[in-house]
Amino acid sequence: MTISFRAPGEYQQCSGALDRLGQAVLKFGGKAVLAGTEGSLKRYGGRILDQCRPGELEIRPVTVGRETTQAEIDRLAASFREAGAEVMIGLGGGKALDTARAAADAVNCPLILVPTVASNDAPCSALSVIHDGEGAVIELRRTRRNPDLVLVDTAVLMDAPARLLIAGMGDALATWFEVSACRQSGAETLAGAPPSDIAVSLAHLCYESLKKYAVGALHAYEAGIVNDDFERLVEATIFLSGVGFESGGVAAAHAVNDGFSACPEASHLYHGEIVGFGTLAMLMLQGESDTVVQEVVSFMKTVGLPMTFEQLNIIPEESLLLRVAKVACTQSVMKNMPFPVTEHDVVRALLKADIVGQKALTEEN
Ligand SMILES: [Zn+2]
Repeated sequence: MTISFRAPGEYQQCSGALDRLGQAVLKFGGKAVLAGTEGSLKRYGGRILDQCRPGELEIRPVTVGRETTQAEIDRLAASFREAGAEVMIGLGGGKALDTARAAADAVNCPLILVPTVASNDAPCSALSVIHDGEGAVIELRRTRRNPDLVLVDTAVLMDAPARLLIAGMGDALATWFEVSACRQSGAETLAGAPPSDIAVSLAHLCYESLKKYAVGALHAYEAGIVNDDFERLVEATIFLSGVGFESGGVAAAHAVNDGFSACPEASHLYHGEIVGFGTLAMLMLQGESDTVVQEVVSFMKTVGLPMTFEQLNIIPEESLLLRVAKVACTQSVMKNMPFPVTEHDVVRALLKADIVGQKALTEEN
């Protein structure tokens, strides 16, 4: 038996963490490149560059494009080499972090990631999603190492739109169910072995934390105050879900996401929103007990995750559902399910999920 687990070298999360970034960089070197989108550099770059000390800590900002393409990765790696930098810092949402991670891998340097949104669980992982110029996914690149540090400023996450925070909960909602499926099937995870007990227990904790802290966290978000519930929720969506999926595996919920992502009709949706609905569809595929389904839909309803085609703003035409199912069934992660899944099963599960979602929405609280 092989036990394997991957995680970032260090994870730090608190309100105001951004002001500790300079000190953190110095542990790895005195010269860094700060890679971020124009928006995130404009918003937070000044606060980071103020921490520079001549002769001790130099940080050169480099603007990266909106898509993680090979050209962007090469350009960032070239800027890094040209600056004689020792440390790569990625600042922003999923794509900016993916570009920084892939470029750091290309130059083989220490990597610090600073997410400015909590919309998905990718920051802690060693996975970069590479796109072509049109935005289509062309490669899931596994980098050699996980980030040396993931630094999360919860006050910064408060500045992001609520929809992104809620999408992050959708991505995290899938983790426990997908890891459980992988554990049952013995699927090999990104850590290179079937889910370890460490990953399974962290995935379970992720689900428990979501249920326990989401409501309090949303109230805190509305009030604009970082409280313990908000901190715990972010710990679940960024850290627990991140290490959970990487060493515990993904399955049907993400296969469904890949199916929708391949269709232009779903391009307005965030990863976590589709994965949330994909989780519900996965429970239908599994013929999950009513108790579990009700617990999940009640969570989705409470936090405002879309659970019907109408809420997703998608017209469930047969041709679309078939295209989604076709792509979903060709994904290797669909094979992580403990039973074979056909296109017909997926279409039926999607329609069933929609019905369950509709029913939950019309029910009294
Ligand atoms: Zn995901």
